[in-house]
Amino acid sequence: MLEKQTWKRAREKFKRTKVALIPVGSTEQHGPHLPLGTDFITAKALAEEAAARTEATCTPVIPVGLSEHHRQFWGTLWVEAEHFRGYLRGIARSLSFHGISRIIYVNGHGGNQAAVLEVCCELRREGIYALAWQWGMFVKNLSEKILHQPEVGPQHAAERETSIMLKIAEELVDKEAFDEAGRLAAPIAFEYGTRVSFDLIDVSEGATTGDPRLATREAGEQFYNAAVEGLIGLVRWLESQTEEALQPKGHKP
Ligand SMILES: [Zn+2]
Repeated sequence: MLEKQTWKRAREKFKRTKVALIPVGSTEQHGPHLPLGTDFITAKALAEEAAARTEATCTPVIPVGLSEHHRQFWGTLWVEAEHFRGYLRGIARSLSFHGISRIIYVNGHGGNQAAVLEVCCELRREGIYALAWQWGMFVKNLSEKILHQPEVGPQHAAERETSIMLKIAEELVDKEAFDEAGRLAAPIAFEYGTRVSFDLIDVSEGATTGDPRLATREAGEQFYNAAVEGLIGLVRWLESQTEEALQPKGHKP
């Protein structure tokens, strides 16, 4: 992990590594039962484990993202989208200055994803190949198999997220609040194929989109392992690509 290395150790690492992982999350309400840091705690854990098992380096986590739609709940923090995108770009450019131009943003918060993708597109035009990897999307098929409740629409503090938190930081999960979270849960509202609720409080006073009472540590372990394996696979894929394959193509003659 970069923050634990001296610059001399970092130099050795940077000289032999091709890929950097940047964990990205949010500090936002996660129902009455999960900590505000759920999204960045998860992203950090997955990125650090994948880095430990590959040659990739892992930067410090970005703990605040785009969460204004949770602002009615105490403790939620957010930054403007332009500042968030600038921060993502800045970290990628500094890694590139040190010679690492293959980057994976390990994203733990769905609300960040569009902005992360936008930055990846911009960076590629300047020769930095960055990918936006969101663990929740990656385990979608596994979710369909092992969850008790089908995931309807974007998920927040529901069974999947609660399960992975039971695996990563069980001591931060308040199981006594599961009942309250489950009773007040409601899915994000859609009409005719479009989202008709904006702030989470529009649909759910309890601030969750599904019932966390069904979460288990065992399911969390399955999600965690699948996500780490997937991320390791992506690191290896990125390492194996030729420079030519990753650079943007020139204009057609
Ligand atoms: Zn979350």
